[in-house]
Amino acid sequence: MNFQIRPLLLITSITILSLTQTANANRIGIKMPSEPKLISAPTACKSLDDWNEPTHARRIYGNTWYVGTCGISVVLIATPNGHVLIDSAPQKASEAVRQNILSLGVKLSDIKTILITHEHHDHMGGLASMQAATEAKVLSRSNIVDVLKSGKNDRRDPQFDELSGFDPVANVHAFEDAGTIAIGDKKIQHLPMAGHAPGGSGWTWQECEKSVCKNLVFADSLGSISDATYRYSAPDSLANALRESSQRVAKTACDILITGHGTASDLLARLDGAKPLADTQACVNYAQTGMLRLEERLKKEMVK
Ligand SMILES: [Zn+2]
Repeated sequence: MNFQIRPLLLITSITILSLTQTANANRIGIKMPSEPKLISAPTACKSLDDWNEPTHARRIYGNTWYVGTCGISVVLIATPNGHVLIDSAPQKASEAVRQNILSLGVKLSDIKTILITHEHHDHMGGLASMQAATEAKVLSRSNIVDVLKSGKNDRRDPQFDELSGFDPVANVHAFEDAGTIAIGDKKIQHLPMAGHAPGGSGWTWQECEKSVCKNLVFADSLGSISDATYRYSAPDSLANALRESSQRVAKTACDILITGHGTASDLLARLDGAKPLADTQACVNYAQTGMLRLEERLKKEMVK
């Protein structure tokens, strides 16, 4: 008799245990960031072009935070359903980026998704170590999944001869171009932005402070920069893709522009209040600058 009852008791206790675990997980939840706890007073960046020089974390707007270095932007979008990181800076800077994330009081393991702008080591050389530290899912444009997994850029890239590659990245999954990454009630829209690199991406989402909502745009580089052999005037080049990317970003509803190299949009000065943070013409101006540089570059190639 007792022998027959025991399995039933066992099942009951397992059920109670799993219910308790679920309740704990819900109670713990995902911690939202708070203003960074600075160990010492923030120091001004010595060089805004230095990819590795650390600088403190800053709120951009709403629940979006700057956690990058003096020269390279890394953005944390916080949601109660898990945080999203866009870019990870070079490998040498990845520890400084992690310290910035931790200074906001959030756990690295609460970053559930990592996105990138483009597959160059200055923006994502630290991606492999960031993925390992967070165990996040890395979402990639399908045309560069193999590049991320192998750590090797390929000849489609205008800067191929000058790129140093990066550590191979784990847990990479393709998403659909121009789709939306939805995390809880946060919707992050993908903007295909090939041209500077084959797998370029911009991202746009909305943040609100009280009742004032702003469209944030993390635009990819529009720089037509290359190694010595690549020609943007060649028929199979990324010139047309760069034009389309510029048009796309110019048409995007844009209040706060974020650029991978902050100098392209005076980002840190804007975050520190030295310049206006929001400018509804910023994306249009950024696109125009990119187009002018491409046309200048094409003219130079013609006289060579
Ligand atoms: Zn690049």
